[in-house]
Amino acid sequence: MTDSNILVRVEGLKMYFPITKGIIIQRHIGDIKAVDGIDLYIRQGETLGLVGESGCGKSTTGRAILQLYQPTDGRVFFRENGEEIELTAIKGERLRRMRRKMQMIFQDPYASLNPRMTVGNIVGEPLEVHKISKGKERRERVQELLQVVGLNPYFINRYPHEFSGGQRQRIGVARALAVNPSFIICDEPISALDVSIQAQILNLLEELQEQFGLTYLFIAHDLSVVRHIADRMAVMYLGKIMELTTQEELYENPLHPYTQALLSAIPIPDPVVEEKRKRIILEGDVPSPANPPKGCNFNTRCPRVMDICHESEPEFKDIGGEHFVACHLY
Ligand code: SF4
Repeated sequence: MTDSNILVRVEGLKMYFPITKGIIIQRHIGDIKAVDGIDLYIRQGETLGLVGESGCGKSTTGRAILQLYQPTDGRVFFRENGEEIELTAIKGERLRRMRRKMQMIFQDPYASLNPRMTVGNIVGEPLEVHKISKGKERRERVQELLQVVGLNPYFINRYPHEFSGGQRQRIGVARALAVNPSFIICDEPISALDVSIQAQILNLLEELQEQFGLTYLFIAHDLSVVRHIADRMAVMYLGKIMELTTQEELYENPLHPYTQALLSAIPIPDPVVEEKRKRIILEGDVPSPANPPKGCNFNTRCPRVMDICHESEPEFKDIGGEHFVACHLY
């Protein structure tokens, strides 16, 4: 895929964690295949939603894209000044400089902020690490960032425990913005917050995207959350992407049996339509990523499973109009 608007491109990304046995001599006896060969791209200024149940490999995908984990296989490209740079092929200072362009907002604003640091130090730390500014200049930049995320700039000397969950997540957002990134991975940024606060943080992220031309990978386990923010959506199951298309197409024409089951679980706020809603209940549990099924990863739970699904793995293919699906039915 060569599209000059593509900011991030991922090819055959795999992230395996080795399973070892033995106390003195550790033997490699298998792998947890957290991410097992995924392809995707994200265009400049868009939001790609990445959804799936807990443990399906969404967060690991995010970390492997940012090179916080070194991928087992596959390539990750990031466009800078019109040129695609392969992140998986660079190291050291060059990778560190590229990291400035890519930041992450974490799920739990209670755990992700150091309780012993003031807000000024938390938000200003990336400016120090990347040697961007110091002293008065840094303090002014931090105050500006606090204002940008809707916090009082005079809170600079306060500690995280003095803030509510929503305010803490705003601090996390300010920290991510400090180094002027172009790409942010939002890893379930609202799932630990009260429902009443969730919409505020989503709105803030959307406003910032417009203001700074940001590109997001938005990770969530809840399809209805991503719907409001994503331009395109990728549905992940057991380390693989099952379906990827625009937000409208996914809701109107879901093709993969797993996507259909996920969508059928979302309540509809209209009692007449809600009464007619047919839920697809998936039987059984998600298999272990250490021992995924042969053939299609979803074959142990798929209501439309066929013989071929136990033998061969479906290709992840574009069935037209950038609607990608991995299923033998298509
Ligand atoms: Fe179901 Fe087979 Fe399609 Fe997999 S390939 S989703 S098992 S029909």
